[in-house]
Amino acid sequence: MPATILDGTKIAAQIKAEIAEEVKSLTASGLRPGLAAVLVGHDPASEIYVRSKVKTCELLGLYSEKITPAESVTTEEMLEIVSELNGRDEIDGILVQLPLPKQVDAKAVLLAVDPAKDVDGFHPMNVGKLSTQRPGLAPCTPMGCMEILRRSNITIAGANAVVIGRSDIVGKPVAMLLLNANATVTLCHSKTRDVANLCRTADILVAAMGRAGFVTREFVKPKATVIDVGINRITDRKEFEKFFAGDAKREQEFASKGSTLVGDVHPEVADVAGAITPVPGGVGPLTIAMLMSNTVKAAKLRRGSRNAEIGIQIPAGRS
Ligand code: NAP
Repeated sequence: MPATILDGTKIAAQIKAEIAEEVKSLTASGLRPGLAAVLVGHDPASEIYVRSKVKTCELLGLYSEKITPAESVTTEEMLEIVSELNGRDEIDGILVQLPLPKQVDAKAVLLAVDPAKDVDGFHPMNVGKLSTQRPGLAPCTPMGCMEILRRSNITIAGANAVVIGRSDIVGKPVAMLLLNANATVTLCHSKTRDVANLCRTADILVAAMGRAGFVTREFVKPKATVIDVGINRITDRKEFEKFFAGDAKREQEFASKGSTLVGDVHPEVADVAGAITPVPGGVGPLTIAMLMSNTVKAAKLRRGSRNAEIGIQIPAGRS
């Protein structure tokens, strides 16, 4: 029997509807969550990402602001922008869209973001909070993976989880979130010996490596849950054939656009797995939903306690 498809678009829509409700009641109690996005230059992909983040804020009722310094911006100017946003009470989340131009010290800029407003969850303070299980902000894509598992009733506690990829943005934090949820976690990287063998021990397999279709059926224990974080654009006909031969819908897309997306997991894995996220439409849609969720959480963590002191009731909602 083919795997259950874990529909990220549907799950993201559910989460966004819940957030919109919560934002409505927070706003009524005088706490409208706000997100500032800093976008340097005109990188087309970054422009698309930031546009859709700002648009989602509007749709869900959050306040949003886009700051667009010129491509020639210096580290000092970026630090000044961040410092100004850190000081503004109505801004709960600060998002610095990466990549930054070469002349800017990206690490210094990210480190300057107030950890209480670090909705990307990249600040070392939040990384530490995640690994010591303290309330804080965790990275959006890994949080999205966890939401997919939880909302699909996949048992995490006691499960063997294998994560392929150890980036600070995806692999490491998703491994930490799984560990915090009581999975037994193995983290693989490019120097790991016999990745396929390790993966076959997984009840939950997370692929986050950026290698098109690397995870084939030999990597997957029958009925395992497979979360495919990878997003790889393929333009080569031969490669297309390797993954999508006979798939009429993909054929049509490839013919009209000259490209299609494939994850880090080969589509054939759907014949072996118990449940699997598709690409596109799996983990991807969760990332923006979790950014909105983090902004609301940041507002409640930072401003909630102060409002409680002056007698304003903050709805409990999502933690
Ligand atoms: P990254 O920073 O390039 O990290 C890739 C990781 O994969 C590294 O840890 C690397 O190991 C490991 N790796 C590479 N080849 C390997 C191999 N043959 N065997 C085992 N491990 C291997 O990538 P990333 O930023 O984490 O992104 C991973 C993928 O997720 C990309 O396709 C990206 O586009 C996608 N992504 C999707 C979303 C979303 O919203 N859905 C968000 C972020 C990223 P080493 O550390 O040893 O080099």
